[in-house]
Amino acid sequence: MWQRQASATVLRARQRHVADWPRSAGCSHPAAHFSSSSSRYPAPREGIEWQKFGFSLATRDTRMVVANCENGKMWEPLRVEPYGPLALEPSATILNYGQGIFEGIKAYRTTKDRIVLFRPQKNGLRFADGARRMLMPPLPTQLFLEAVSTAVRENADWVPPCGQGALYLRPLLFGSGADLGVKPSSHYTMVIYVSPVGQYFGPGTSGARMQLYKSQQRAAPSGQGNVKAVGNYAQCFSAQRMAKADGFSDVIYLDVAGEYIDEAAASNFFCVDANRVIHTPQLGSILPGVTRDTIIQLDSDIQLKQQQRALKDSDIQLNVRKVSAKVALAAKEAFLTGTGAGIAPVEHIASDEESVTFGESPGPVTQMLQKMLSDIQLERVADNQRWLHDPFVQPDFSKDSFVEPTF
Ligand SMILES: *Cc1c(COP(=O)(O)O)cnc(C)c1O
Repeated sequence: MWQRQASATVLRARQRHVADWPRSAGCSHPAAHFSSSSSRYPAPREGIEWQKFGFSLATRDTRMVVANCENGKMWEPLRVEPYGPLALEPSATILNYGQGIFEGIKAYRTTKDRIVLFRPQKNGLRFADGARRMLMPPLPTQLFLEAVSTAVRENADWVPPCGQGALYLRPLLFGSGADLGVKPSSHYTMVIYVSPVGQYFGPGTSGARMQLYKSQQRAAPSGQGNVKAVGNYAQCFSAQRMAKADGFSDVIYLDVAGEYIDEAAASNFFCVDANRVIHTPQLGSILPGVTRDTIIQLDSDIQLKQQQRALKDSDIQLNVRKVSAKVALAAKEAFLTGTGAGIAPVEHIASDEESVTFGESPGPVTQMLQKMLSDIQLERVADNQRWLHDPFVQPDFSKDSFVEPTF
């Protein structure tokens, strides 16, 4: 019934109170209802070479979820349409002034044959925060969840087989009114389109080669570096091109003083020192990544296991504070995090003066975290934190939706 509703062309943009959804007695976790033989999850398309996908638009044979909002009014009902061009007038605010934000979320096919979204509530909260920062009408979190869930259900046969990638969802929100004036738009459009994706840095790479970059900066203090604003990205292309020409995969940006690490163009930075302390920059001008937050939360798991001596490597610590370029260049391992990249090992970091090449890539701590994360995402272990959201069951909004955002 949920499935049928989803395939209707127009979905009602309901904003029900959580309590209105029927809750299953005695079982608070939706995962427990379904055995692996459930047929509610459409099988992956036949004849697709999933392993060949990198991180780009792999197909146009998908459906997108669209909604509109006139400034000062409610969001109109969600619509499902074939992927294709959007009609925009040249005077649309997004084209002239960049009033727009985006998100990135992945849906995975798990070892239990389910399809799940990873922490979409967190993206929904960030999407709403970003909308407010750019003076756009935020999508209520529940409507956002309904929209991403619809996008997954409508494109479920594009969710790759378990372990062979993910379906990437790209929500956009932008000023689509034809206004010309230098002011917030009179109309807004929300679109979610999708593509199956594989590895971010291309298949078969053992680690990213990163350049510590001083001659351009990504974000200013008190600017919009902490928002997934469209304007933050094109400005990074030239540094990326120069870095690539010099044999690097991408750039790591420093703060305005050129001393402390901010992050990469679309992923957060972590490094591990010789004392097995994991370092990651504090929030501020960096983007508050969901993957970053997940690792910080997993650290309490690690600390617990260390106390119980259930972990072989029992001396790992995590520091969230300013990370100097020096610390990164003296590290034993490093990695980047993002929904697109996952936990992507870094094999080499170079500044103008110094460089480091890590002996083992991914290093042992990186590998441990990669495993912890993918075990949860692919349901090899119990989802104790309730981070997984099943778009095929009626939303039993998981605990994660009510946790105050840590960003
Ligand atoms: C999206 C993004 C990240 C990673 O965020 P996730 O929520 O983990 O995907 C990191 N840095 C920047 C600049 C980003 O745009």
